[in-house]
Amino acid sequence: MRTGFIGLGAMGAHMARNLHKAGLLAAVWNRTAAKAKALARELGCRAPDSPADLAREVDAVVMCVSADGDVLEVVEKIAPALKNGALVIDCSTVSAETARRAAQMLAPRGVQFLDSPVSGGVEGARDGTLAIMVGGEEEAFERAQPILKALGRTITHFGPSGSGQAAKATNQIMCAGIIETVAEAMAFARAQGLPLDKLVDTLGKGAGSSWYFVHRAPYMIRGSYPAGFRVRLHAKDLGICRDMAARFGVSLPVVERMLDEYAKLIDQGYGDEDISATFRLKAELFERAAGRDEAAPARGK
Ligand code: NAP
Repeated sequence: MRTGFIGLGAMGAHMARNLHKAGLLAAVWNRTAAKAKALARELGCRAPDSPADLAREVDAVVMCVSADGDVLEVVEKIAPALKNGALVIDCSTVSAETARRAAQMLAPRGVQFLDSPVSGGVEGARDGTLAIMVGGEEEAFERAQPILKALGRTITHFGPSGSGQAAKATNQIMCAGIIETVAEAMAFARAQGLPLDKLVDTLGKGAGSSWYFVHRAPYMIRGSYPAGFRVRLHAKDLGICRDMAARFGVSLPVVERMLDEYAKLIDQGYGDEDISATFRLKAELFERAAGRDEAAPARGK
């Protein structure tokens, strides 16, 4: 299946490389054209000038762009150019509603759409080990197997359009709670004066461990948070979770708290850092308290 890739960001560039390794990649397109030209040179594939030009050349399009509006914008551009019988696989994280709209935009043209958001971070994208949560028609899911297998290891069909995104939203709520807990625990451990590398090695094998602890606590130790998974992208995802829960009249405490924390980080200019930058806010709790202790004698306490 000749496949084109749209959206060569932190995730997409790795995913396109894995499609190339599987012998499936025919063309790439990226909004910032220089990235597409460089990758096309590296892989020896085509870099058409527009998403529509790419769509005309392929049997399947995989896309991984930022947010809901971006997915709909790309779908609108490729829809008129896609062949009847083509397949569109969207790996961006967006709302279930957007996935259903994209599927409806493509169906009249005889094009099948699979919402196929992924989990596993840039490491999973690089290693081709992503967990992929798919919504859409069963037959499209079967046709997409060679592509999905080139990108990930755990590939699950959850049901009709939108159900892949609903599964991903569930994952994003867990990530919010876990990254907050890891950041808080690491700030606590640092305040205790513990040797933090040893701590990660040891607790990383314990019952409280998680992917985020093993892979992102080291960022917290170094005080450097390269994206990774950008704060503003997870904030976008949690906004989706907030809206989906609100349809049931529910406000989720973990989601609300992390939206507040991310708003602070974005305000302070850290929106493009990895979400492990949450450690900045947790470390500040201890730094502020230490500052209060030092100031206390001067205040005559
Ligand atoms: P990223 O590094 O910010 O890359 C975003 C990509 O989308 C870039 O190639 C960007 O083009 C393109 N793009 C954005 N808006 C566009 C538009 N309107 N039209 C065309 N292209 C557009 O983001 P990422 O980390 O790769 O994440 C991509 C998606 O995967 C997001 O939905 C994110 O939530 C999800 N995701 C990310 C991770 C992670 O760990 N990073 C994990 C799982 C899922 P430019 O180069 O021109 O900016």
